[in-house]
Amino acid sequence: MNEIVQGIYRLKESTQASANPCANFENQIALYDSAFTSKQNVARVLGHEFSHILFRKLEKSEQIDFAKTAEWEGNAWNGPRDTDLTLNRTGLVEEDSQLSPEEDFANNIEYFLFDPKALWEKSPKVSDWISKKFDDKLRLRSVK
Ligand SMILES: [Zn+2]
Repeated sequence: MNEIVQGIYRLKESTQASANPCANFENQIALYDSAFTSKQNVARVLGHEFSHILFRKLEKSEQIDFAKTAEWEGNAWNGPRDTDLTLNRTGLVEEDSQLSPEEDFANNIEYFLFDPKALWEKSPKVSDWISKKFDDKLRLRSVK
């Protein structure tokens, strides 16, 4: 992940979406002060943002394969943040997964890493796809 994340910055708060603990833009990640409160898990917040960047680094065919597995439907594929697509899957780990395939992917990877049981219960096909796609390359390791 080192070679694709260009910077991680701590900022006071988002001027666009004050509820978000973090955001990303062109492979740079902003962590807002709210990410460091007891309600948030910084590792989980970062994992979610890394997942956005990971999705954009996948081949288009891989993004489409994810979107099909996750039951996104639409007439065309206009990119990972396509808002013209419709999500037909009912089991969602987070409601904002409906925003785009990329948001859905980031939420699902976050749950795959930090709450795999919830992902498996809500979206078993997506959980399977992530397992097969990333095999053992996607693991949490503790820092000592
Ligand atoms: Zn997100």
